[in-house]
Amino acid sequence: MNVVVQIFFFFLGSVVGSFLNVCIYRLPREKSIVHPPSACPGCGKPIRFYDNIPLISYILLKGRCRECGTKISIRYPIVEFLTGLLFLLLYRQFELTFESLVFILFVSLLIAISFIDLEFRIIPDILSIGGVILGFLLSIARPFFHRVEPRFGILDSLIGIAIGGGILFAIAWIYQLITKREGMGGGDIKLLGMIGAFCGIKGVIFSLISASFIGSIVGIPLMLAKGRDTKYAIPFGPFLSLGAVIFVFKGDILINAFINIVSR
Ligand SMILES: [Zn+2]
Repeated sequence: MNVVVQIFFFFLGSVVGSFLNVCIYRLPREKSIVHPPSACPGCGKPIRFYDNIPLISYILLKGRCRECGTKISIRYPIVEFLTGLLFLLLYRQFELTFESLVFILFVSLLIAISFIDLEFRIIPDILSIGGVILGFLLSIARPFFHRVEPRFGILDSLIGIAIGGGILFAIAWIYQLITKREGMGGGDIKLLGMIGAFCGIKGVIFSLISASFIGSIVGIPLMLAKGRDTKYAIPFGPFLSLGAVIFVFKGDILINAFINIVSR
C-alpha cells in the first residue's frame, strides 16, 4: 500500500478536521460556517493562514493565540488528529473506492455530531437530517461505482432510516408515555436514522447495542462517582457514533464472530 497516499489521506483528514472544528464551534452558536474567517475567541483577531495549519500550528504555538496568549482548546488538535487517523484507516481498508468517499463523509459527520453533543448536549438537525438525506442519495449512487461490490443498497438505506428513525422513535415515545421520563433524545433518534441511511439496518442495530454496552462501561463508574444525576449528563451521541465507526471497520467480522459463539 502506497505510503505517500496514506500520508496524503492523513493530511486530508486533518484539514477536514480543521473545518469540522469550525462547524463544532459555530453550528451550535448558530453562526455561519463560511463567514467570517476564523478568529481568536479571546482577542477577536483573525487567525493567520500560517497559524491555521492542522496539528502543527497548535504545537508550534504551544496551544495559545499568537496575539493575546488565550489558551486554544485541546479539542482542536484532537479533532484534527482523529479525523486524519480515520481517513488514513478508511483508505487502508477501502482503498481508492466509492466506499472510501462514502465513509469519509460519514465519519466527518459523526465527528462533528459527537463533539457538539459532548459540549452542548444537542445534535443539530442540519447534520443529522442532512446526513439522512446525504446517506440515502449516496446509496442511490453506489451501484454506479463497480470497483467494489457495494456493501449497502438503496433498500438497505431506506430500511435503515425507517428502523433507526421510525421504530426507535416509537419505542422512545412509548417509554416516555409509561415512565413519564425521557429515555432517548430526539437528536439521538435522528442520528440513528442517519446511521441507518449510511449503514443499513445491521449498522443501526450494531451501533445501538455497542453504544449501550460501551456507554454502560463508561457511564456506570461515572454515575457511582458523581451521583445519579450524571445519567442525564452523559450524551449518547458520541457512543452511537463510536458504535457506527466500529461497524464501518469491523462490523461484519464482529457480527459473524458473535453469531458463531451463540450458535455453538
Ligand atoms: Zn487572541
